[in-house]
Amino acid sequence: MTSRRLGVFGGTFDPIHSGHLIAAASVRNALELEQVIFVPTGHSWHKIPGPLAPSMDRLAMVDLALADYENFTSSAVDINRLGPTYTIDTLTDLQGQYAQEFIDDQFTWFFITGADALAEFPSWKEPEEILARAQIVGVSRPGFTVAPGPLLSGHSIVIEAPTPDISSSDIRQRVREGRTIEGLLPIVVAQYIDTHGLYRDTPVGL
Ligand code: ATP
Ligand code: MG
Repeated sequence: MTSRRLGVFGGTFDPIHSGHLIAAASVRNALELEQVIFVPTGHSWHKIPGPLAPSMDRLAMVDLALADYENFTSSAVDINRLGPTYTIDTLTDLQGQYAQEFIDDQFTWFFITGADALAEFPSWKEPEEILARAQIVGVSRPGFTVAPGPLLSGHSIVIEAPTPDISSSDIRQRVREGRTIEGLLPIVVAQYIDTHGLYRDTPVGL
């Protein structure tokens, strides 16, 4: 029986940027993961009013960004499920799919999250169930301290990664203001944003 180590990286990816790619690559290397599966949210329950770009555009940008990476892939499980996205459902759906597709393989799952998102872990839906399904990996992010709380003790791994101080919200604001986003994300993604006119009308503060 083959044992396979897989990472799941959930996010709004509105849009995907180099911080996401560096975080995922660092975790993949540190934990010797076979693949990292990027999962764009449907509607993030903790983000009001929700993602700005349509789900299909966010997924298309993720796929463009990942095209050159052999060990990164995407999944539309959260986009295809109706209603708000909860990590417990992401893991349940993905694990069900993989178990069905690869009956003879055994999987070890890691859920990757940046330091800011990690801090909110206790407020996620069914945190204990999540921990029964995956180890939580907290990856460093400039401006935030990776601090797994008591709930995560013994269930989390902290990876110090050279992640840059880049955020999707800053990228959206730059596009709205007509400033450059060069170097903050893959060129193909910047081109997609331009061609599809994304984020030009982003309301201030989003
Ligand atoms: P926004 O500004 O819209 O919140 P974001 O840049 O935080 O966007 P998300 O899609 O919200 O991107 O984040 C998805 C995951 O990636 C989260 O776990 C987040 O902590 C992590 N992440 C995002 N940017 C970085 C970064 N620069 N370094 C490390 N982790 C990051
Ligand atoms: Mg965020």
